[in-house]
Amino acid sequence: TAQIIDGKALAADLRSSVKDVVAQIKAEHGVIPGLAVVLVGNDPASEVYVRSKGKQTVEAGMNSFEYRLSEDTSEEELLNLITRLNSDPEVHGILVQLPLPAHLDSKLVINAIDPHKDVDGFHTTNVGMVGTGQDAIVPCTPRGCMMMLAQIYPDLRGKTALVIGHSNIVGKPMGRLLLNADCTVIVAHKSSTNIPELARMADIVVVAAGVPGLVKAEWIKPGATVIDVGINRIPAPERGEGKTRLVGDVCFDEVSEVAGAITPVPGGVGPMTIACLLANTLSACCHLHSFPEPTLLGV
Ligand code: NAD
Repeated sequence: TAQIIDGKALAADLRSSVKDVVAQIKAEHGVIPGLAVVLVGNDPASEVYVRSKGKQTVEAGMNSFEYRLSEDTSEEELLNLITRLNSDPEVHGILVQLPLPAHLDSKLVINAIDPHKDVDGFHTTNVGMVGTGQDAIVPCTPRGCMMMLAQIYPDLRGKTALVIGHSNIVGKPMGRLLLNADCTVIVAHKSSTNIPELARMADIVVVAAGVPGLVKAEWIKPGATVIDVGINRIPAPERGEGKTRLVGDVCFDEVSEVAGAITPVPGGVGPMTIACLLANTLSACCHLHSFPEPTLLGV
């Protein structure tokens, strides 16, 4: 049966490496990396994420600045805040929590962030740079997936990789990173007609579709590595009436009989994502100050 890639443990390692480098930078240069998180409105899921990001930022020894703006904030007000944060020397990372309320143009807002401070890696400049294999800020979830793959493969060159899902935040950047690592990459999505067949060719399958139970054992080449990005809440009547549980996009029990390595849900990619936000903030700080950039978990 498959080796379980323990995202919780890896994320803890990553946070502790980040914390060490943060302490070292503070001691040597008197600089403390700072992350500004902007939340517009009061979406309950976003509230939870923002709180958790702030807490982990502080635990890593970095400064956390939180900006909570009301649901009816105008585009001008939000853009003014971003301009201010762009020129604030204590702020090295800026994250605008998505989704934004409908009256705000998220593309415009994200592209107003200084690309060097865009720790989500969603700015068009960073997307373009990653797409052309240049050093840039990489979105957190794909960066976490690359770190997990680095645990299994010291060298990804020549591996055949299938990415299922082509969203701008996960699937597309994942495909580009694997291509930059010289994998042979296939990106499948809702309109693909032969995913099981494509999957059987793949040494690496990364799934980010948001469809519980999508990937089945018979799709998987024996020994392949399966990275499950999906997070789906499904009913769990066995836990009591009205109870739910989290599952990924992979039929975990059967696939782990065939795969060589697999990430669980929960406890897989999820914990890596916020840890990578800390890593991105540290990287941004190093870049802005021309400090050498640390290699974290091999990526
Ligand atoms: P999205 O809805 O923006 O994109 C889904 C993608 O999957 C699309 O490209 C779509 O074409 C494809 N797709 C949908 N149904 C499919 C099917 N039946 N077969 C093949 N492809 C299909 O989603 P997203 O934002 O990329 O997120 C995907 C999943 O990953 C969600 O479950 C989300 O909750 C999860 N997610 C997890 C993390 C994390 O930290 N672990 C981060 C981001 C997203």
